[in-house]
Amino acid sequence: MKLSGWGRYPITKTQTTYATQPGLVASSIEAEKTTQIARGLGRSYGDSSLAEHSINLSKMDDFISFNEINGQLTCAAGVSFAEILRVFVPKGWFLPVTPGTQFITVGGAIASDVHGKNHHIEGTFCEQVSSLKLCLASGEEVECSKVHHPHLFRATCGGMGLTGIILQATFTLKPIESAYIKETTIKTTNLAETLAKFEEHASATYSVAWIDCLATGKQLGRSLLMLGEHASPQKTEQTQQKPPFQDSQTAKTSKFNMPFDLPSFTLNSFTVKAFNALYYGKVRQTQSERLVHYAPFFYPLDSIQNWNRMYGKNGFVQYQFVIPKSAGLKGLTEILTEIANSKRGSFLAVLKVFGKANDNYLSFPEEGYTLALDFKMDNTLLAFLDKLDEIVLHYHGKLYLTKDARMSEQMFKQSYPQWQEFQKIRYQYDAQTCFNSLQSKRLGL
Ligand SMILES: Cc1cc2nc3c(=O)[nH]c(=O)nc-3n(C[C@H](O)[C@H](O)[C@H](O)COP(=O)(O)OP(=O)(O)OC[C@H]3O[C@@H](n4cnc5c(N)ncnc54)[C@H](O)[C@@H]3O)c2cc1C
Repeated sequence: MKLSGWGRYPITKTQTTYATQPGLVASSIEAEKTTQIARGLGRSYGDSSLAEHSINLSKMDDFISFNEINGQLTCAAGVSFAEILRVFVPKGWFLPVTPGTQFITVGGAIASDVHGKNHHIEGTFCEQVSSLKLCLASGEEVECSKVHHPHLFRATCGGMGLTGIILQATFTLKPIESAYIKETTIKTTNLAETLAKFEEHASATYSVAWIDCLATGKQLGRSLLMLGEHASPQKTEQTQQKPPFQDSQTAKTSKFNMPFDLPSFTLNSFTVKAFNALYYGKVRQTQSERLVHYAPFFYPLDSIQNWNRMYGKNGFVQYQFVIPKSAGLKGLTEILTEIANSKRGSFLAVLKVFGKANDNYLSFPEEGYTLALDFKMDNTLLAFLDKLDEIVLHYHGKLYLTKDARMSEQMFKQSYPQWQEFQKIRYQYDAQTCFNSLQSKRLGL
């Protein structure tokens, strides 16, 4: 079958095996010794879950145990974040870290070492994982954690499926008192103000800014900064006259569907500029507050099924980089100016602050600012992104592997200095003979 990541670029021919139980993973590895890679729900954007053979774990989705006192959950790697929320929010528990979609698997979250809007406080998802079970190239299953096989653990967390197949994991959910978020929106007029507001609200549990990436001159970097706190039951009942967990089982997702590919001319600098002006303009006050269900706060895009078709049949590339705080204003200004001058619109332009890096070999977050942008694929895009790469490298930044579809080997090796330690672990466990993706080949792993 033909398969792609969420960006629908690139597309490749793949044979897929659906693993429904751990024993089948080992036999599938044995049967396909050559080039295979794990796949969850395919929400990585580029080619990290693409290979000649893919082992799909999304049907291996059992909950194994839950400790109601401390929130420790053990589940199979194919359990989705959406399922965890559906089951556990009504019981008063929430994911400790969640990305901007709930349609990902636990295995995918670990392999990408995903981050959320609370990285500055909680770190990455893997920092909440106490142990995981991995199926190696030999078919052997090993339990690893910070104590047992710590190097294998560090290589697997953020290792893009290149050390083996994650079968199950144990991590801790966090207690909540309602399914609602107290959201504060702050409207800023330029980039310096946006960064200053992030600093001013560094203690907010969740923070994220949508940037109008086509604004130029004095308005460059104007944004809507969204802050969030889990709401108390009193607040929920007062404001909504609803019990604290009502609606949590029917997470407000997938109301709309994008039934077909939009023609590629639909998205252009005029339409994106018009959308951005409307979106920014609809917020009138400099600061406002509201109570929202967790779904629209964390997962606004999940409400439109197949929204990735909006970019037309050629797909799109998501470009997400991080640059150190010291380079922040200068580096971001240079990149936003380059984008605005190129007249390439991105509906999505999301800025977050990262806290300290962890010690996983290929983990993405590092203390600084991270910006994610979507660009429609056309025949000049790749050359344009090469230009952005130069700026990112100049400011000692790097790109996020789970979003990547086109980074050069040279850029990868320069910006992920621990790649050699990572390779050593792969060789130690013979993983390179078995687990390879289109991405790992492109990056010279
Ligand atoms: C709308 C949207 C918003 C997003 N927002 C964020 C965000 O805010 N923060 C963030 O960090 N990410 C974000 N992402 C990216 C997403 O969280 C990651 O790509 C995640 O890894 C996808 O999980 P998946 O189950 O779909 O994995 P896939 O896309 O199927 O695979 C991703 C990688 O994980 C590996 N993998 C999957 N399952 C296993 C397994 N069982 N064992 C070993 N390796 C495995 C694959 O080989 C591949 O390398 C977003 C994606 C979308 C579409």
